[in-house]
Amino acid sequence: MKKEEKLTKKNNLKEQLEELIKENQKLREENKKLQELNAMRTDIISLNAHQLRTSLSTIKWIIKMILDGDFGNFSEDQKEIFRKTYESNEKAINLVNEMLLANKTDNLEVEYHFENVDLPKLVETMIFEFTAEAKRKEIEITFKNQGQAFPPVSADKDQIRIVLQNLLENAIRYNKQNGKIIIWLEEKDGKLVTAVADTGIGIDEESKQRIFERFYRAKNAINVSYIGTGLGLSNSKKIIEKHGGNIWFESKENEGSTFYFSLPLANVKEK
Ligand code: ADP
Repeated sequence: MKKEEKLTKKNNLKEQLEELIKENQKLREENKKLQELNAMRTDIISLNAHQLRTSLSTIKWIIKMILDGDFGNFSEDQKEIFRKTYESNEKAINLVNEMLLANKTDNLEVEYHFENVDLPKLVETMIFEFTAEAKRKEIEITFKNQGQAFPPVSADKDQIRIVLQNLLENAIRYNKQNGKIIIWLEEKDGKLVTAVADTGIGIDEESKQRIFERFYRAKNAINVSYIGTGLGLSNSKKIIEKHGGNIWFESKENEGSTFYFSLPLANVKEK
């Protein structure tokens, strides 16, 4: 190759490289703009959803006071209407909660704050929070390890609370009237496994492969409850995997399901 040819080639390459650098710069700027827009969208949804939830909660407490007789006596027919309003309002609160959750875990900026967490204590608190809801369906919740101590796990407490909330909510929602929920903990290979077993509708073979997909709901689940977004399990999976744990289940249609998740023990967690 002649000297001039070599020089032209070199110049061409230089031009191409400069072009690529410019292109890259432009893409980075566009990406930044999109990220900012996305963060703004997330903030607006979150702000509105929180305000909506506050209004719904006010309605909830007022209806509750009416039902508790704080405003005097009402006929059974009137009470029935209030009860229906209360339930409808509860559904709306659930949907707003799911919306907030989806909005939150969609946002890649969510920061995890790991600390040593006493999991049995957190499980007990969550069971307590769900007692009233379980009672409404006459479901008995048993915690096999009540009062038993386990080594702490390394976890973001608020995120694990969300996971337990999802699993308990499902175990109640997809359970039968007078059903049972059994929860237990087990230490295994440097991890603490939590199991939530129910005696509900179970999951059919086809749906088993899909229930961790976003927005997926099995037909039998839609039949028993039209509330639900199909986001709880996919969010829970994301959360557990961020902790270096696993989430899985065993289920038989019409018999029940057991959901498990594992979390690394605090002292063996790789840094
Ligand atoms: P949602 O409950 O809002 O529909 P999830 O993501 O929590 O969404 O669950 C996805 C689907 O997995 C449910 O719609 C249901 O089909 C199935 N599922 C989850 N938990 C249970 C359970 N305990 N028993 C039976 N089916 C379940």
